[in-house]
Amino acid sequence: MTRPAGQPIADLPKNVSMPLIGFGTWQVTGQTGYEAIRAALDAGYRHLDTATMYGNETEVGRAVRDSGVPREDVFITTKLPAQQAGNERRTLDASLAALDCDYVDLWLIHWPPGGEAGVDTWRELLAARDAGRARAVGVSNYSTAQLDELIEATGEAPAVNQIKWSPALYDGPRAAEHRDRGVVLEGYSAFKNVDLSDPVLVRIAGTHGVTPAQVVLRWHVDHGFVAIPKSVTPERIRSNLDVFGFSLSEAELAEIDGLSGGRG
Ligand code: NDP
Repeated sequence: MTRPAGQPIADLPKNVSMPLIGFGTWQVTGQTGYEAIRAALDAGYRHLDTATMYGNETEVGRAVRDSGVPREDVFITTKLPAQQAGNERRTLDASLAALDCDYVDLWLIHWPPGGEAGVDTWRELLAARDAGRARAVGVSNYSTAQLDELIEATGEAPAVNQIKWSPALYDGPRAAEHRDRGVVLEGYSAFKNVDLSDPVLVRIAGTHGVTPAQVVLRWHVDHGFVAIPKSVTPERIRSNLDVFGFSLSEAELAEIDGLSGGRG
């Protein structure tokens, strides 16, 4: 994809650029969902996170097409439901048909199939990547031990592990385990897992003239984590992307890391 102007990215293997702020689309469905995704593209998001299970790939595809933004300028992630392990090709066929796209930018295994690493499924994802149907492949909700199982079996690390993440869940060693393996850590449900009225966030937000939600997103960016905030509220859709005009100091980052109660 073309690198979105002014937006920081994570570098994935094979020269794939992933914008650090994407638009989450769980429960973003139907006409309201379509309008929210259009609003996100209009606001400048160039990264959309969907999944077979969200039932909204059609809305995502239609919103991208109608937006006039070239397909190659939007980073689209979708996910294979764990229950579809064994039906990988057909599931990706269905995703591409619903999205009306020839390829996705990132295809993830949504959960460890049957609670296991799922080496056979991982091989199918690698094959889809090699066939040009996904520019990058990765996983979601995987432990470090499960990442290692995939790496040991195939010599290929998932490009991304999408996991529940927020300042209150910050785990420094776990972040380092991802970095050490070259796996980009993509966080989900950041807002649902932090108290936006926490005095630390409120004070730091005041220092920068931004909202606590923007501080949470900037904390991801400054750490190099990917964040995918979801909103169907136009003002929030815009403000959640408007986090590139300030940055957090080392001391502020450390203080926000501390919201996890010292796990970091
Ligand atoms: P989020 O943490 O993004 O929170 C969404 C909620 O926060 C909504 O209620 C939204 O309200 C509200 N909100 C959005 N912006 C603001 C703001 N600026 N200030 C205050 N409140 C705000 O939750 P999600 O669980 O949706 O996670 C984000 C995305 O991560 C999902 O949409 C999905 O794409 C992905 N995900 C992946 C999972 C996985 O297993 N891989 C699991 C869960 C999520 P409103 O919409 O009304 O504005």
